[in-house]
Amino acid sequence: MIRFTLVCDNGHEFDSWFASNESYEFQIDADLVACPHCNSVKVSKGVMAPAVARTDRGQKHVEPIKQSVALVSDSGGELRRLARELHEKIVASTVDVGEKFPDEARRIHGGEAPDRAIRGQASLEEARALIEDGVAIMPVPILPEKLG
Ligand SMILES: [Zn+2]
Repeated sequence: MIRFTLVCDNGHEFDSWFASNESYEFQIDADLVACPHCNSVKVSKGVMAPAVARTDRGQKHVEPIKQSVALVSDSGGELRRLARELHEKIVASTVDVGEKFPDEARRIHGGEAPDRAIRGQASLEEARALIEDGVAIMPVPILPEKLG
């Protein structure tokens, strides 16, 4: 038996057991699985959320941060060029504050430091805390050649 977390078109989440993945596919295709909350048969597998480690903010539920990624093939020269261009643009128009980024971003957000564009390093936890506090940050694109 496999348990899937399903979600209906009204956004209700519920767990359902299936004998196998094939059985799941068959029952979904045949509209045999209905949402227990609203009876909708338009259901699909929900996103499996990875477990989130507790933060220093106690029991508060925190949505996992996902980093958008793209597969850039050898023929993706144009995408590579755009990624490099964006990278260079960000580097050219921001001041590198390095490890001080989370503190400095918070100070700028709070009006305690002059408003300017900065870049630097933040851990996933620090990035999460900044976003939670409403500080608008964005990841700097990693150049494809650095991934190889
Ligand atoms: Zn429903």
